[in-house]
Amino acid sequence: MPSRLLATSKKLRAKPNNSHPPVKCPTCKKSGDWFAGKYGPFCSHRCKLVDLGKWFSAEHAISEPLRPEHFEKFANLPPGGHLDKPEG
Ligand SMILES: [Zn+2]
Repeated sequence: MPSRLLATSKKLRAKPNNSHPPVKCPTCKKSGDWFAGKYGPFCSHRCKLVDLGKWFSAEHAISEPLRPEHFEKFANLPPGGHLDKPEG
């Protein structure tokens, strides 16, 4: 029997499994047993929504306005004559 494995499993068993360690609410930083609640790790539904909102606004922040260098990779393309033709 590898003694190292035994030591590890002993350590795991030593953890109390009937109570959760207190966690900090990611939104308001209030600490408590939030994982026990249905909004864990958030303390409340409100805090969960606030965090979701942050996520969405962060995503929007990534989309920056277009700048000339964004088109550099298209500069070497041959002129698209077929695209420039006016209709008719
Ligand atoms: Zn909170």
